[in-house]
Amino acid sequence: MADPVLIQTREGLYCPAGDFHIDPTRRVPRALITHGHSDHAAPGMGAYLATPQALPVLRHRLGRIQAEGLAYGATRRIGGVTVSFHPAGHVPGSAQIRVERAGEVWVVSGDYKLARDGLCEAFEPVPCHTFISECTFGLPIFRWQSEDQVLEDMAAWWRANADEGHASVILAYSFGKAQRLMAGLGQQGPICCHPVVDQVTAILRGQGYPLPATQRLEAGQSPPQGALIIAPPNAPATAWGLGLGPHRIATASGWMALAARRRGAGRAFVLSDHADWPGLNLAVRATGAEHVIATHGHTQAFAAHWAAQGLRAGELA
Ligand SMILES: [Zn+2]
Ligand SMILES: [Zn+2]
Repeated sequence: MADPVLIQTREGLYCPAGDFHIDPTRRVPRALITHGHSDHAAPGMGAYLATPQALPVLRHRLGRIQAEGLAYGATRRIGGVTVSFHPAGHVPGSAQIRVERAGEVWVVSGDYKLARDGLCEAFEPVPCHTFISECTFGLPIFRWQSEDQVLEDMAAWWRANADEGHASVILAYSFGKAQRLMAGLGQQGPICCHPVVDQVTAILRGQGYPLPATQRLEAGQSPPQGALIIAPPNAPATAWGLGLGPHRIATASGWMALAARRRGAGRAFVLSDHADWPGLNLAVRATGAEHVIATHGHTQAFAAHWAAQGLRAGELA
């Protein structure tokens, strides 16, 4: 068998024929980045390559970096391979990375979801021989309700709180989930943002992503009557939350599917930016891959599942 196109190293996934890393976690000269979440985009790389849509948030989070954009679907020759980026449907600008060496195609999924959210570029299956797939929610117990249903439940919770004179605080990751919530709930009433959420939102709005008007809520400031406030998960415990007045808290995350994680998180809404079990299965099938490598999550169970389906399957440490 030929040498693998990508191998796992101390720094992260490495392509020997192209001499670059994908989503490295330690300093390397050349990094291809799937998206701007901190577990995928670390500081200190010599050079960054990502989609043009991902660059503004990357620069916001990493400061002055040497970064270049490669449009979705465009190809770039690097050493002995050809690379391209394809929508992953996870957060705005997120990509799967396709690497082709002499006709052999590997695809690194990054984080992905198949469901459309009206905000990020829709997931696109990329035919390949080897698919390196995340499997954060790679167990049959994870099955998401439709986004419409979850948004409807959130809107009802928000209305009920407002009727009782309470503000509603939804805790969500500041990049991706927060904007998905405001895009889905913006028609229902005034939405305020924690400053950290507001910064990312302003960047994405400036890029032309369709986001409703929101109001920045500074530390200690009181929200307007009946407002919905979107804040990062740790915010209520900080000084920022002192002006909130009477309020109720909810958390929006795929992890809310696990009852044990609900403790102290208030009302739980299961809304994930990752594929659920049926979504992961659909995605792997859609690539036509004969070789699946599981990463990020329930890798052992996910690899065993595909081995049982007759595919060659492995996992990344
Ligand atoms: Zn992510
Ligand atoms: Zn991730």
